[in-house]
Amino acid sequence: MRILANDGLDNKAIDIFKEKNFEIDTNHYEIEDLKKVIVDYDILIVRSATKVKKDLIDAAKGSKLKLIIRAGVGLDNIDVKYANSNDITVKNTPNSSSNSVAELVLGHMFGLARHIVLSNLTMRQGQWNKSKYTGIELSGKTLGIIGFGRIGKALAGKASALGMNIVYYDRFKNENESYTFMSLNELLVNSDFITLHVSATDRPLIGKEEIDMMKNGVVIINTARGGVIDEEALLNGLNENKVGGAGIDVFEEEPSLNAELINHPKVSVTPHIGAATFEAQERIGEEVVEIVLDFYDNLANIAS
Ligand code: NAD
Repeated sequence: MRILANDGLDNKAIDIFKEKNFEIDTNHYEIEDLKKVIVDYDILIVRSATKVKKDLIDAAKGSKLKLIIRAGVGLDNIDVKYANSNDITVKNTPNSSSNSVAELVLGHMFGLARHIVLSNLTMRQGQWNKSKYTGIELSGKTLGIIGFGRIGKALAGKASALGMNIVYYDRFKNENESYTFMSLNELLVNSDFITLHVSATDRPLIGKEEIDMMKNGVVIINTARGGVIDEEALLNGLNENKVGGAGIDVFEEEPSLNAELINHPKVSVTPHIGAATFEAQERIGEEVVEIVLDFYDNLANIAS
C-alpha cells in the first residue's frame, strides 16, 4: 500500500509504517502537482494545509485512492460528502489534540489577563511600563465555553481547577453536574471570558449583536475556526473598548492578512498552532496508524 502524507506526519508513525512495509511518501505536493500524482496512492493523509475539494477528488476518481485521513479534528478542508460519494472513506483523529488546544486557550487567557504580550513587545523597545500593566486574576472570573465537546470539556476541568466559574452553551444540551448550562444569550451576558469550541460554521456565531450583549471588557478567545467570529465586528469591539482583549489562533483567511487585527495592542495571536505540540502530534500519529491498520485489515478480510 502506498501512503502519501502530504502535510507531514509524526516520525514515530512514519517508522511504524516502514516497519510494516507500507510505502510512505512525506513529500509535499502543491495542488496542481498533487492532482497529477494522487492516482498513485492508496491513502492520502493531510493536516489543514492541503485542501481536498472536488477538483482533487475528481482527479482521484476511479483510482486506487480509497482512504483520506485528516490528521487533526476539523474536516472543513475536505469535501467529505463528495469523497464518500466517490467511494473514498474519510477519517479524522478527533481525540488527540484536545489537551493541547485547551492549554493554548489558557495561554492566551493568562497572556491577556496579565498583558504579557504587550510587556514583551514594549520592554524590547526599551520601555518599562510597570504602572500600565495592572492585570486581573483568572481565579473567580466566569468563563463561558461555547461548544461543549472534547476541547470545551477538557478546558472546563483545567479552568475550574484555577478557580474559574464555568458556564457553557452547546446546541445539544449535554447534562453536566459540575458546570452550569446556559442559553447562548445568557452566557454572553454573564461571562468575563468567552471561548469558542464549536465546529466550523457557515456564518459567524459571534457578530456585532452578540458582542454588544457581552460585559464591557470581556476577553474573547477563538481557537475553533476562522469565521466562527466575525473579525470586523471583533475589531470594532476592541476599538470601541467594549472588548478588553482577544486571543486568536484561527482566522477567516489563513495565513491571515488582517494586519489591523494581528497588530492590535489588545490582541494575542498565534498562527493556528492549537494542536502543534509534540505530544498531540505523537498521539495523532498513533491514531493515524490505528486507522490505516484497521482499514488494511478490513480490506484483507473482504478479499479472503
Ligand atoms: P467536538 O465535536 O468534540 O465538540 C464541538 C461541540 O460544539 C459539540 O458538542 C457540538 O454539539 C458543538 N457545536 C457545534 N456547532 C455548534 C453551534 N453552531 N452552536 C452550538 N454548539 C455547537 O469538537 P472538539 O474536538 O471539541 O473541537 C472543537 C473545535 O476546535 C473544532 O472547530 C475544531 O476544528 C477546532 N480545533 C482547532 C484546533 C486548532 O489547532 N486551533 C485543533 C483542534 C480542534
